[in-house]
Amino acid sequence: MTPKYPNRTTLAYLPTPVERMERLTRYLGGPDLYIKRDDQTGLATGGNKTRKLEFLVADALAQGCDYLITTGAAQSNHCRQTAAAAARYGMGCSLILRGYPPDTITGNILLDNLLGAHIYWQRNRPAKELFADVNHELRAMGHKPYVIPLGGSNVMGATGYVLAMEELMAQLVNEKIFVDFIVFASSSGGTQAGLVVGAEVTSYRGKILGISVDHPADDLKTQVAALATATATHLGLGMLPTVGRIEVNDDYLGEGYACVSETEREAIRVLGQQEGILLDPVYTGRAMGGLIDLIRWGAFTRGQTVLFWHTGGTAALPAFADKLV
Ligand SMILES: *Cc1c(COP(=O)(O)O)cnc(C)c1O
Repeated sequence: MTPKYPNRTTLAYLPTPVERMERLTRYLGGPDLYIKRDDQTGLATGGNKTRKLEFLVADALAQGCDYLITTGAAQSNHCRQTAAAAARYGMGCSLILRGYPPDTITGNILLDNLLGAHIYWQRNRPAKELFADVNHELRAMGHKPYVIPLGGSNVMGATGYVLAMEELMAQLVNEKIFVDFIVFASSSGGTQAGLVVGAEVTSYRGKILGISVDHPADDLKTQVAALATATATHLGLGMLPTVGRIEVNDDYLGEGYACVSETEREAIRVLGQQEGILLDPVYTGRAMGGLIDLIRWGAFTRGQTVLFWHTGGTAALPAFADKLV
């Protein structure tokens, strides 16, 4: 099955490394653990949105746009990578961030600022209204804005993770590693949709398990299924049996999005101290915390191999210092 990929720009250092986590494997006494380092995509501290933006920015340029508009949480990694991508291609960038201006400029907000993005705080207004305002304002100034949805999760963004799955499978074949499970943080669904389509393209037989960061499993599954179908169609693959491959665990939502608990605190310290790898407090800390818990509950057998797909986000760490130390 050969997808017909749209044009892309170059923003990421690829392929990102696959590493064995020998000390963590021993520490947990569990399955063989590997990690795919998409925290090392290289774009202004990297992360999973870089792969999505390679296709989104190409689409924006093809449409003659000169401005990127997107939205996210205050400490959005997606917004920070969008700001960097815009800078790289000489485009402007407007970010609509949830909530109110914070007292301290730190983490991703600091980087957004340094990367030249214009930040609009949503305050108590509906995001839609603010999008329309910013769009109108830019057009009145003679710009042509390109709107990127939350998390870059549309067919263009998800396409980045179809290709990422091809990249991973080539690495695994080369290293003669068979992976039973791929585990990662899932939120707006673009990463997971791309991976399940990529699994069909590459005939990957293992499981793909998204640890939900903020949505009930059924909601996220529905979202991923719709996006996977749309992405497969867009790539000329027709209807693929992706729905049965969409697995989501929502046991680790805790008090909600970006509410740091002992789950994240432990995961961040364990990975840091066993492997010298940093996780983030919102996404990968939660997903790794979930994986550690699943290992302790005996969800995997000792002979199995689990690959944790690191999706980035470490730029947010300083903003959560008081919750982590
Ligand atoms: C956005 C993000 C995710 C979730 O990816 P989706 O494609 O939105 O599901 C996971 N980890 C990090 C660090 C992110 O920034």
